[in-house]
Amino acid sequence: CGVVGVTGNKNATEILVNGLEKLQYRGYDSAGIFVDSKKGPDYLVKATGSIADLKRKIGPEVQGTAGIGHTRWATHGGVNIENAHPQFSGDERFYLVHNGVIENFQALKDEYLQDVKFHSQTDTEVVVQLIDKFVTQDGMNTKDAFNKTLSLLGNSSYAFVLMDKEEPETLYVAKNKSPLLIGLGNGCNVVCSDSIAMLDVTHTFLEIQDGDVCVVNPDSVFVDDKDGNTVERETFEVDVDP
Ligand code: GLU
Repeated sequence: CGVVGVTGNKNATEILVNGLEKLQYRGYDSAGIFVDSKKGPDYLVKATGSIADLKRKIGPEVQGTAGIGHTRWATHGGVNIENAHPQFSGDERFYLVHNGVIENFQALKDEYLQDVKFHSQTDTEVVVQLIDKFVTQDGMNTKDAFNKTLSLLGNSSYAFVLMDKEEPETLYVAKNKSPLLIGLGNGCNVVCSDSIAMLDVTHTFLEIQDGDVCVVNPDSVFVDDKDGNTVERETFEVDVDP
């Protein structure tokens, strides 16, 4: 399983699909991408089976400058299109990819989301629905809603990349116990489970640590550590053998 994200590059679709192809070695049963959050669900494409199956479903109109992608290894909910990621909130404002397991998803669903209609059986959907609830019902901004949601996840494992339709160039990123890197490009930035996914875009990566929460835009990356302090994470270069 793997996650990818990109912002600030007009070839977002191609970058995501190439990235997912490179992450196939991690294993998966389904895959999906979402680009250009202003377009809504039209630009959400998901498939069971291989990345080749996903590619066949991506029409030429599915283009954008920012997007997220996922290869899923199902842990909660069967292998089908509804359960493939990206998962989205009821009003289709927030889109989320996730690797890992939300251990307390049922308790969170019972406590906060009794009135919400779910469209998948995944643990992941609880997270995106919670973020939506904290924004649309409780009036939080997206960053605060993301932080509050993360604070409720206990010891769950996750690599998350979140998009908000209202901020189409921004990727909200968080990690705990699942691998995740941010790649620094030229006027664009990327997110990936393994640098191998993004070597066509950049060789410079930031090491994200457990508990970090990052806001990634085309020209900037801000990282907060688990205590909410803004920090600089070390960059490293990935060399490729000729
Ligand atoms: N637990 C999530 C699901 O089953 C994510 C699985 C993964 O890491 O791919 O949908």
